[in-house]
Amino acid sequence: MFESEIKPDDRSVNLKRRAFLVTSASVVGGLAVWSLRRPRLAQATASKETPQEVTIVQFSDAGERLKTVQAPKVLKSEEAWRKQLPAGVFDITRHADTEIAFTGKYWNLHDRGLYRCVCCDNALFSSETKFDSGTGWPSFWAPIAPENVRSTADKSYGMVRTAVSCTECDAHLGHLFDDGPEPTHLRYCMNSASLRFVAYKTT
Ligand SMILES: [Zn+2]
Repeated sequence: MFESEIKPDDRSVNLKRRAFLVTSASVVGGLAVWSLRRPRLAQATASKETPQEVTIVQFSDAGERLKTVQAPKVLKSEEAWRKQLPAGVFDITRHADTEIAFTGKYWNLHDRGLYRCVCCDNALFSSETKFDSGTGWPSFWAPIAPENVRSTADKSYGMVRTAVSCTECDAHLGHLFDDGPEPTHLRYCMNSASLRFVAYKTT
């Protein structure tokens, strides 16, 4: 009598427990699927919505230093750059090609102004550090702000050189050599095609 009374309860307890276990298993299973999917989703979100931040110094078109900012790196597809840039500029800035010496727009320009990145408008050089290197490429002894350009080792064509690129968008700008004039003895040998000159307004 006592036993028969307790058995249904036991059964119902067992049933409840089984139901709970089934539910738990499906929750665990769901979690496993969710956690398997999650890294891929997180990665996609990271590359699309939170691109890498870089530190750059902003300048006005008058060459006035404005402020240092954290800016998202400019990331565009190969196709987007190809649409935005003329073919020669695309090859130089996005594929590290080099323009033929004495053919660019700026090697012989002596006007006062600012040289911005042709791809993203980041300020790169000022006419104040431009000098006549005799190479046929616009040459500078310093960038407008060290934050705004980046130097990396370039071992292409069997040479070891230092490539210079735009911090904000990774555009290839040219190469850096140590045979420049005072005060830095550096020579930033740039492609005109990578630059956009903005003349200082004379007031
Ligand atoms: Zn740029």
